[in-house]
Amino acid sequence: MDGKALAERVRAEVRAEVEQLGELGLATVLVGDDAASEIYIRRKHEAANEVGIESLDIRLPASTTQEALEARVAELNADPSVHGILVQLPLPAQLDEEAVIDTIDPLKDVDGLHPSNAGRLYLGRPRLVPATPIGIMALLARYDIELDGATAVVIGRSNIVGKPVAQLLQQQHATVIMCHSHTRDLERETLDADVLVVAAGHAALVTADMVRHGSAVIDVGMNRTDAGLVGDVDPVAMEVAGHMTPVPGGVGPMTIACLLRNTVQAARLQRTAFEFRST
Ligand code: NAP
Repeated sequence: MDGKALAERVRAEVRAEVEQLGELGLATVLVGDDAASEIYIRRKHEAANEVGIESLDIRLPASTTQEALEARVAELNADPSVHGILVQLPLPAQLDEEAVIDTIDPLKDVDGLHPSNAGRLYLGRPRLVPATPIGIMALLARYDIELDGATAVVIGRSNIVGKPVAQLLQQQHATVIMCHSHTRDLERETLDADVLVVAAGHAALVTADMVRHGSAVIDVGMNRTDAGLVGDVDPVAMEVAGHMTPVPGGVGPMTIACLLRNTVQAARLQRTAFEFRST
């Protein structure tokens, strides 16, 4: 499943929407100097600029206090030129991630992590949904993967990937099984999967013999090894799966493209809220 090609299409759509909407701004906040986070932030800015979204790259020292970080987020909430706010996770250990996320204006929460956005997704009334799960659903749709009645197995239960993708799959009428580090027999679950989404952060956690013949496998993992960037699924599984995303070139590019789409959506939500308040 070619995430690069589909992401290119999504970005072209976003570019056209940005032209229509006028100036849009995406602010990212990076606390500390985590090397992987630096790379992700740089890619997000490059992609934003490429579609005409202004990006604001806020860097704060690793020693930043909770109060200072929350105050910076509050400034971004109040800034009308900023339509999307993304606080890069993980934060240094002294900071309370949940409290910071709670501070973000839900209408600017392009990561979809604010409790009101996560809650809306849970209730089947999605507003801003994390970009990776949206990208995964777009890939499944692009390749006509049948979800109605399918057994979908999700490995990983993070707020940013596992939980929201499980919700979206369920809303498309898949029977969803969630696996995590306490799952007793992972292979027994994965061999049942028509659709397998793997987001654990362990290189080659899923081997070819754990994949059901002809299934669709979405490899979310991004693991930096001596051999370079690898996913959570052994690439040999491509010989067994009917469809599978490569790493790199699968979910990664879709995540970035869908983040840009979320920024456009956030801007639209803010406009609607403004018009509503003005009437
Ligand atoms: P996370 O917050 O670290 O969560 C990992 C999840 O995997 C947890 O729920 C954990 O279970 C589960 N897990 C860990 N080891 C397991 C095992 N041996 N068997 C079964 N489950 C296991 O991870 P995340 O943020 O969702 O990210 C997961 C991976 O996706 C990482 O490699 C990350 O870099 C990558 N990622 C990629 C993109 C992209 O755009 N391609 C976007 C986001 C994340 P417990 O809950 O029991 O601890």
